[in-house]
Amino acid sequence: MNSNKRTALITAASKGIGFAIAKDLAQKGYNVVISSSNEANLASAFMQLNELAPGRVESILCNLRDAKSVQNLTLYCQSKNVNIDVLVNNCGGPPAGYFPDIAINDWDMAHQEILKSALALIHACLPGMKEQKWGRVINITSIATKQYVDNLILSSAYRMALTAACKVLSVQYAQHAITFNNIAPGYTFTDRMKELTEFRAKKQGISVENAMQELEELTPMKRLAQPEEIAALASFLISEQAGYITGNTITIDGGLTKNIS
Ligand code: NAD
Repeated sequence: MNSNKRTALITAASKGIGFAIAKDLAQKGYNVVISSSNEANLASAFMQLNELAPGRVESILCNLRDAKSVQNLTLYCQSKNVNIDVLVNNCGGPPAGYFPDIAINDWDMAHQEILKSALALIHACLPGMKEQKWGRVINITSIATKQYVDNLILSSAYRMALTAACKVLSVQYAQHAITFNNIAPGYTFTDRMKELTEFRAKKQGISVENAMQELEELTPMKRLAQPEEIAALASFLISEQAGYITGNTITIDGGLTKNIS
């Protein structure tokens, strides 16, 4: 099937990595459904995509931290005239912080935002993918699933759980040509990265510019990734050519993580 017959749902897609993926897919002719919790940013993203997309563009307000809001999105996915072929589970990301600073309720919130929302959407989209005998599920995770990151305990914990769940699904649904993969970005130049850098700068008592420079220095390529580079990888994993790749996490981090496998 051509990309212009496929429909992709990308969550948390009004800005940053999610938006870059939606833009790339829209330009390639996919029908694109974007969701986000921020109404104004969502409207702006919708307008930008609509201008350049040959396919259909839709936007749905959805707060991934709110179970009811996610349920509305799952109902959309299950509605009669909708078939989601490509599901990109992205999220805003849980707050950064060290264990003592994180309230017990924050664990519930991160559970909902990262794990439960993604599983609910997978659950809603899988029957259609199975019927079509084709599907792609991509989770945007983090290098925090590959190596220890000091202040990202919530991110590490729930993204590892999602990675494990999708490994199981990758085996169970391989015979239906449905693939499950994770993309683990390193430092990528987005608003989220600016926020985390501000947090670190404050904690270390240094300027935000210096904190940003530290990240560049830490990265063997001496620069941050651009969201479009993450989108290019997602686009490949979604393509027909990547149909034999499943159950993997692919890091895209300029050489940052030091693990061998
Ligand atoms: P970003 O801040 O640029 O964009 C986040 C998007 O998520 C926005 O569209 C925002 O409206 C949306 N969003 C925020 N909270 C939401 C909610 N509760 N429900 C629905 N949508 C919500 O962030 P980004 O850098 O593109 O990050 C995307 C994901 O990638 C995050 O989960 C982040 O942790 C992860 N990540 C980012 C980096 C990086 O360096 N930028 C590195 C590794 C992992």
